[in-house]
Amino acid sequence: MRRVPEPLVDEREDEHGVQNGGADLRLAALKDRFLAGTRIDAPALHKTKVNKVRVERFNEIGAVNTKIRTLIGGEDGALTTSMHEILVGKGGSTAMHRHDWEHQLFVQSGHGRLEAVDGKITLAPGDVVLVGAGEDHRFVQTGKEPLRFLVVTPL
Ligand SMILES: [Zn+2]
Repeated sequence: MRRVPEPLVDEREDEHGVQNGGADLRLAALKDRFLAGTRIDAPALHKTKVNKVRVERFNEIGAVNTKIRTLIGGEDGALTTSMHEILVGKGGSTAMHRHDWEHQLFVQSGHGRLEAVDGKITLAPGDVVLVGAGEDHRFVQTGKEPLRFLVVTPL
């Protein structure tokens, strides 16, 4: 099925309101400023190095031996999406979970498995995966090296 790009501001503002909180408010503010012809003060460019970003414990309930880096977030000027690096150590996994947004992920290194209701798929370096909104899923590390992947998610 062909996906049609969404306009800068769409109906999700009304639909998700408070749940998506900041992102929708920022998007609405950005639209207002754009329409008013005023300067948009969010930085247009941001660059860092992955190794300069602090690694934090992944606080999801049920996650085992999993860490996260926020590579790009709201503090860096992002308005609608953020990019995280997820690091699942040996024997680690995330909890089975679901959310109303989709995951777009890119496997950098290590091996693992994505478990969903419809089955399991293996994860290896270079794999690019979409997990659709509302899908139950979890990530499980396999092999000797930590599983490292990037995810793009709504702010
Ligand atoms: Zn998820």
